[in-house]
Amino acid sequence: MRSYIDDYKQKGLRKQLVDTIRSKGITDENVLTAINNIPRHFFLDTAFEGIAYEDRAFPIGEGQTISQPYTVAYQSQLLEVRPMEKILEIGTGSAYQACVLAELKANVYTIERQKKLFDANKNFVFKNKYRNIRFFYGDGYEGLPTYAPFDKVIVTAAAPSLPAKLLQQLKVGGKMVIPVGEGDVQRMMRITKLGDEDFSTEIFDDFSFVPMLAGKKM
Ligand code: SAH
Repeated sequence: MRSYIDDYKQKGLRKQLVDTIRSKGITDENVLTAINNIPRHFFLDTAFEGIAYEDRAFPIGEGQTISQPYTVAYQSQLLEVRPMEKILEIGTGSAYQACVLAELKANVYTIERQKKLFDANKNFVFKNKYRNIRFFYGDGYEGLPTYAPFDKVIVTAAAPSLPAKLLQQLKVGGKMVIPVGEGDVQRMMRITKLGDEDFSTEIFDDFSFVPMLAGKKM
């Protein structure tokens, strides 16, 4: 069950969440505005309504989670989104991160490997509001060769190493933000494509994501 009422109470809690994220070090005002504009409780079961604006990850079914708002903001900030950019997201999940990118006026291509989570977004509440999001069911390791190249790639699941096809599908000058590591903790990395075979890597903070798994799941 979901509730789609956004009144002063939720708006107030959302403002507090934005303040929390800001105090943790997020400085990109466009990202903070996007978080302020999106009713996060719409992406969660009514059971979580009272706590939807805590800065925490929550279960969304199928063993997966909606990322912590701070993490969403952190990755979005590192991605340096500009209007009209073509962005590939791996791991649609609840579609909350995709909506943040859509609020930043990007053209979003998002892939989910689990059919049930993909199907859940068929009657996505913001279908009409965010026409700049396209949903795909598939294996993120393959990317979307038909739509490549992308200005940016964002991976929202923990990758054991840098997925070669995703690097290929980046434009020269493009960037990929991805948590890399095999254990419980991953390093946030930003890869910049300098030339066809030439990449630079920046390393940021540690995070804990659900794993990026190979293949599709029915
Ligand atoms: N961006 C999401 C976070 C969801 S958690 C949100 O805002 O809610 C990560 C998601 O990545 C899960 O839904 C998981 O099923 C998905 N995933 C894991 N490996 C994947 C892969 N290889 N391709 C596509 N999606 C994948």
